Amino acid sequence: MGHHSCRTLFAAALSAALFVAPPAFADDGQAPRAKNVIVFLADAAGVATLNAASLHGHGEPLKLHIQQWPHLGLSDTSPVDRFVSDSANGMSSIMTGVRTRNGVISQGPDAVRGEKDGTPAKTLLEYAEERGLRTGVVSSQSIADATPAATYAHANDRRNFGAIFPQAFTPRYGDGVDVLLGAGRERIGTALAAAGTGFDALADAHKRPIYASLDSVPASDARPVVVADGIDVRAATLKALDLLEDSPQGYLLVVEWDAHTDDVRKGLQNVVDFDRLVAEVEQRVDLDDTLMLFTADHSFGLQVDGGQRGTPLLEGYESWKASGSDDDDLVRLDHVLVNRTHTAEEVVALATGAGAHRVRGYFPATYLFQVVLDAWGWKAD
Ligand SMILES: [Zn+2]
Repeated sequence: MGHHSCRTLFAAALSAALFVAPPAFADDGQAPRAKNVIVFLADAAGVATLNAASLHGHGEPLKLHIQQWPHLGLSDTSPVDRFVSDSANGMSSIMTGVRTRNGVISQGPDAVRGEKDGTPAKTLLEYAEERGLRTGVVSSQSIADATPAATYAHANDRRNFGAIFPQAFTPRYGDGVDVLLGAGRERIGTALAAAGTGFDALADAHKRPIYASLDSVPASDARPVVVADGIDVRAATLKALDLLEDSPQGYLLVVEWDAHTDDVRKGLQNVVDFDRLVAEVEQRVDLDDTLMLFTADHSFGLQVDGGQRGTPLLEGYESWKASGSDDDDLVRLDHVLVNRTHTAEEVVALATGAGAHRVRGYFPATYLFQVVLDAWGWKAD
């Protein structure tokens, strides 16, 4: 009796706690709107790479955290004129909803690579900036490389770092990307010098320091730009969350981690580590008001064609590494074959949280742009 009434009281208290505030509903009346959106971009992580990462990191299929997420679709990454995408078209398609050409950063297909600008395609980061959200971009790679660049810049050639990186300081909407943390210091510095500028000149002109390492960012800087030689993606992502998560209007955070498997152990370990980071971030956010999306910009030619439970997936890796055949197009390990090139098949898009239910079926990568806008409840221009 005593136990029963106690339980009843507890249940009543629990339902009161659960129904204090009604959630804000999006247009379709189905699900709460997202306040925050986090896009995890595993560069070149196709379906087979995710499978192999689970086998490599956990010894079994389906052991990645993201493989437990409830919503899954398959995303076609192809550019307008070919079957196989590079990072520039792949990420531009996701960020702008406009399919374009390989090599082109967030411009329409009227661009001619290296020759003529195309129509600028407004990015999710620009939509977010326009509406007063805080924004962050983190990359394991050069912060001016195609994938991060497609969030904050527009260029007809991904190689033009000297024109891409300065655009972080001359935004078309809002005050531009708030937290920009990545690598590529030497290459970007060289490109800036060739363009007649440099880190110091940019920092002075825009009154915004450009730090050479994550550790050198003072606690007082709420909008840090870091261009390092190399970056700890986990530390950078957690730092970005610290700075973005109390934003009254919400935030957009884009995190890229390289998953090319030219070096198969490095690529698969990156996916395993990225997956752990996704799980860690998920613990910090409220999925009732946050959309988490995991996808890739294009696939890669990796196949698992052997191996057995209880033995390492990457048998033969050490002898391949020692053989010095690092320039070969094909890498043949005991149980894994890597054709070291981008490939055309669809990549997974996985989602959880507010607005995640829209990720389902086959779709073009441009649909993911719409998924994010719909989650926020916004209309495209
Ligand atoms: Zn890529």
